[in-house]
Amino acid sequence: MKPQLLHITTQAYDRLIASCLEALPREACGILTGEPNIGKIIDVTAIANVHPSPSAAFAFAPDDWVKAYYRMQKSRQSLLGFFHSHPTSPPHPSTADELGIHTDDLLLSHWIISLQQPLQPEIQAYCYLNGCFQPAQWAIAD
Ligand SMILES: [Zn+2]
Repeated sequence: MKPQLLHITTQAYDRLIASCLEALPREACGILTGEPNIGKIIDVTAIANVHPSPSAAFAFAPDDWVKAYYRMQKSRQSLLGFFHSHPTSPPHPSTADELGIHTDDLLLSHWIISLQQPLQPEIQAYCYLNGCFQPAQWAIAD
């Protein structure tokens, strides 16, 4: 399979970083959505993190997740991926991240934003293939 190149608009990128910074010291989490045919991420919706240890892991608040899904459908977008931040660690999937994945959907990407250096966020996108996270290339495209 050829390596996937993911696209995100400047506006969505800025919103992604802002959502992660706003959530500090907790992990931010949420969904990435866009136009289904193009597969480009054009919108980012943060979802409240209700994990009992929110600075080390994340769990979507169910009511917020439903609201975000409804908002996405209303704006005729599709779910393209998920994001969450790592406030103090590198952008590599944690054990909790590995255990939290239940789908092998090739159309969904998983983005981890490391805020180890808040002024220089480090982003790594992954696709989940054959039971593990595979790094994916991404680029800003407007
Ligand atoms: Zn994580």
